[in-house]
Amino acid sequence: MLSYRHSFHAGNHADVLKHIVLMLIIENLQLKEKGFYYLDTHAGVGRYRLFGDEAEKTAEFEEGIARLWERNDLPPEVKRYVDQIKRLNYGGKALRYYAGSPLIAAQLLRPQDRALLTELHPSDFPLLRNNFKEYANVVTKRDDGFQQLKATLPPKERRGLVLIDPPYELKEDYDLVVQAVEEGYKRFATGVYAVWYPVVLRQQTKRIVRGLERSGIRKILQIELAVRPDSDQRGMTASGMIVINPPWQLETQMKSILPYLTEVLVPAGTGKWSLNWITPE
Ligand code: SAM
Repeated sequence: MLSYRHSFHAGNHADVLKHIVLMLIIENLQLKEKGFYYLDTHAGVGRYRLFGDEAEKTAEFEEGIARLWERNDLPPEVKRYVDQIKRLNYGGKALRYYAGSPLIAAQLLRPQDRALLTELHPSDFPLLRNNFKEYANVVTKRDDGFQQLKATLPPKERRGLVLIDPPYELKEDYDLVVQAVEEGYKRFATGVYAVWYPVVLRQQTKRIVRGLERSGIRKILQIELAVRPDSDQRGMTASGMIVINPPWQLETQMKSILPYLTEVLVPAGTGKWSLNWITPE
């Protein structure tokens, strides 16, 4: 069953948090000259139209990227992210398109870096393939993203970032992300792994946290931004990124911008951020 389409959610508050963390990790990896491997296990299509398509129906981007679009007080890290989105929007006159994780990454990659993007959806994969056909160091593959950690790690570069961003429409995804990280870590313990998660029911999110605690893996940072308090009603109240082996600067960078993001993305004042180590070094 593959009914989830990311186009309904592109540019929402969860994408903003995820893509800022993604950009910062890549920037930090690029402080070294040596190339790295980027694996995007659940790539989506990479580029989304915000008007005239699914995104306009839900208008989730209005409570995400749109809230940052015209601000002139963006902290430098947030400005660099908004600039990535402006590159797709004719320099930033009007917000029409949003970049998914593969495009944020591809725009940043240097010639010595390379990416593998996997997507399983029969309608989304051809769009993904088409969006990246001109990128020399990006490969797209219609395949199960979870399997790619087994199949492609460790990378020949011995440096890498794996983004694991499943839709969680199946409850198994909460366990599969933990298994995928364990598989990857066994093969490539120095890699950076970033797992996105939604908070719909807190118990489900806790499955991931407990699974990772039990894995024995060290150096796991959890970053979360809530737009409302936890609830047992329908809908996502928060989202987060769990980063294994984060670059050392990430904690400080996120601590400095999370208060701003929370205030600007959640003007109602119901927002809350947190950053903590699930397991320290
Ligand atoms: N990472 C994207 C971004 O930030 O722009 C969004 C990805 S979206 C949350 C999840 C995607 O995973 C969907 O496009 C869905 O079709 C795809 N998908 C679902 N199960 C998959 C699997 N087992 N392997 C690869 N892709 C899968």
